[in-house]
Amino acid sequence: MKIDVAIVGAGLAGLACARRLGQLGIEATLFEAGDRVGGRVRTDESDGFLLDRGFQVFLTAYPEARRVLAYDPLDLKAFYPGALIQTENDRLRISDPWRKPGEAFSELLSPVVPLSDKARMGILRRKLASTPLDAIMAGADLSTIRTLQGLTFSERCIRRFFRPFLGGVFLDPALQTSSRMFEFVLKMFALGDAALPAKGMEEIPRQLAGHLKREAIHLDARVEGLDRGRLRIAGGETVDCTNVVLAVEGPAAAGLVPAVPAPPYRCVTTLYYSCDHAPERDPILMLNGTDRGPINNFCFPSRVAPTYAPAGRDLLSVTVLLDTGGAQVKKLQESVRAQLTSWFGNRVDGWEHLQTDRIEHALPAQMPTERRSTAYNTLAKQGIVVCGDYRETGSINGALTSGRKAAEAVALARKA
Ligand SMILES: Cc1cc2nc3c(=O)[nH]c(=O)nc-3n(C[C@H](O)[C@H](O)[C@H](O)COP(=O)(O)OP(=O)(O)OC[C@H]3O[C@@H](n4cnc5c(N)ncnc54)[C@H](O)[C@@H]3O)c2cc1C
Repeated sequence: MKIDVAIVGAGLAGLACARRLGQLGIEATLFEAGDRVGGRVRTDESDGFLLDRGFQVFLTAYPEARRVLAYDPLDLKAFYPGALIQTENDRLRISDPWRKPGEAFSELLSPVVPLSDKARMGILRRKLASTPLDAIMAGADLSTIRTLQGLTFSERCIRRFFRPFLGGVFLDPALQTSSRMFEFVLKMFALGDAALPAKGMEEIPRQLAGHLKREAIHLDARVEGLDRGRLRIAGGETVDCTNVVLAVEGPAAAGLVPAVPAPPYRCVTTLYYSCDHAPERDPILMLNGTDRGPINNFCFPSRVAPTYAPAGRDLLSVTVLLDTGGAQVKKLQESVRAQLTSWFGNRVDGWEHLQTDRIEHALPAQMPTERRSTAYNTLAKQGIVVCGDYRETGSINGALTSGRKAAEAVALARKA
């Protein structure tokens, strides 16, 4: 087969790249190892439940998403802007910590830390809202935990709120992730909603794929090797092309092109349960503020988008950050159930386990010490452009941005 541009990987970066190339008048063909598009953003349907492959949320303020996605057809359902903190014997609500910082933390911290954390939150929020994203990405780069400590948030506020909240976002309970990511994410939470598409997160890549010709997407087509304009597909087929865009996860990219540095990744496990009646009726994220047990955060996605569960049932999603390894799944399921029982009592006995997903390469680690090249043309001489979330921010926004930049780099290289 002879084609123009080959894109390896049909996750969000690959799809965004194909779309932008199309807009630039360049024909691209996608080769995807999996049986459908979307990569890390996928939704399994099981007995009327929608199970996203790992708990994920879409932040409506993502600037690249605003450019490339049509929000109305996604039928986005928003979370309540706040969180419930599960303590040893209570659940404390914090309201809208990013959009109404003056109202946040009152139940959580008062009277032990009456005003100081609220005031700090207000200052941080105002600063981030008015700082452009480019400036955030070029700003100071410490670990998130050091930044929070430097901002003098109380230890109690960090332990009960920031650690489970940001730990769940970065899949990093130690909060070693770059403070640039911390500022990026907080800015996004401040400016928009956290939401789920009514038909599941996979609706996002489906929408992108809908702009492409069907024949431009080859599924079950794992690229096993690439050498100077020639792809080797599993099964023996070879494809000759003018340019290659490598839009696979970091470790897979390094496997195909050794010149690509393999960034470290974080792992996560998500457990899903069917419940007859969610004990929490609000569409809200819940955080483990106890510092104990396997659960980091949990929520009932069907309270956010009722389409996530069949009539008369609720869906519970539990996120575990501690990596016990694939072999320990049974033990993990037992300890998660025990912790849920300690919070919700015997009703948990009736909650049926549906699925456990362990995702090894869930998010790039994005440590402050990592030096990432922002240039998209470094391998242009070999006809290769590399993209993926790990080149920008480990997020839906980062993947979409990276795909678009890769397409523009291909177009530029062809003019040179
Ligand atoms: C559990 C979890 C929670 C997350 N939570 C959020 C969140 O709340 N908000 C947010 O914004 N982001 C979140 N993310 C991150 C977001 O999903 C990713 O940043 C984004 O989807 C990455 O897209 P990508 O295209 O860069 O990579 P991928 O989606 O990994 O796409 C790479 C594609 O390449 C394919 N591939 C690999 N090797 C080959 C090969 N040899 N040949 C052909 N194809 C190949 C893969 O099958 C895959 O389809 C989360 C991710 C996970 C896993």
